[in-house]
Amino acid sequence: MDNPSKDSARPQIVVLGTGGTIAGTATGDPSQPGYIAGVLRVDDLLQGIPALSRLARIHTEQVANLDSKDMDFSVWTHLAERVAHWLAQPHIAACVISHGTDTLEETAYFLQLVHRTNKPVVLTAAMRPATALDADGPQNLLDAVRVAVKPQALGLGAVCVLHGRVHAARDVTKASTHRMDAFTSGERGPLGEIDGDSLRLWRQPATEPGAPFAIPPAEAWPRVEIVLNHAGADGTLVRCLVANPALQPPLRGLVVAGTGGGTVHQRMQAALQWAEQQGVRVDIASRIGPLRGGAEDGLNAVKLRVRQLLELASHEDTQGRSRFP
Ligand code: ASP
Repeated sequence: MDNPSKDSARPQIVVLGTGGTIAGTATGDPSQPGYIAGVLRVDDLLQGIPALSRLARIHTEQVANLDSKDMDFSVWTHLAERVAHWLAQPHIAACVISHGTDTLEETAYFLQLVHRTNKPVVLTAAMRPATALDADGPQNLLDAVRVAVKPQALGLGAVCVLHGRVHAARDVTKASTHRMDAFTSGERGPLGEIDGDSLRLWRQPATEPGAPFAIPPAEAWPRVEIVLNHAGADGTLVRCLVANPALQPPLRGLVVAGTGGGTVHQRMQAALQWAEQQGVRVDIASRIGPLRGGAEDGLNAVKLRVRQLLELASHEDTQGRSRFP
């Protein structure tokens, strides 16, 4: 896509491909699910959107090509390093990332926490594969680039642009398995909207306490698991995780997706207190969504896990306090 001989007044941005349904194609095989995610390359996706070249000079890089349900720490490390590499270059104004919807919010929040410049990082995705008649990927990619080149996007950190909405990484979550308008920012609402070439921002993202973190080397990510509170949750899973000497890497932390306002079954609570005594860090979220108040304010369980992973990886687990008063 890069054509340096053309108009040098256009901003330069980089689009990093990681896969997802946005890069998916129909299988054409009745014995298979309707499509396979992470097939097309980011260059292929951009070829189909001629309007992009009027907005920016675009560099591309294929960082991965996977279904984002399979996202892992080595891809996260590589992706964050590539984002940092590109954004350190004075001529690059912003970074756009095409991604799957399933773990989009986790990758976005991870990138938010390691982000060190005021240049925007804009993630986008799609609910329909690239070969669908009603594919939403091209519009979402175009909108993502439109946001990325706007001066108002400076300082927003990592945002997700989907279905005409701009969501803060901290707030966004996937809330539908099938609707094109699949993402919400809950009670906080999106940061704004992109409508044609017009970006309207309604608010600024919340400041992240303690960020930015260092990008952990691929082999330095600790093990943090999420356990769910539910009727009959007796803590067996917690005890199995903590007492298992074969776990590699060993368990360092637990995030509990509690009921309601972060409550847990009394037997689960006893197991969690025992886990803390064994040196495992325990943080409480809610299976309903972001909790109000407290150190974990505003993070759902998967994002609280991302924060805990980075705190443990950077040895910033200084809180040393029980989550159970
Ligand atoms: N499984 C796909 C992914 O997350 C779903 C999507 O992109 O919509 O990669």
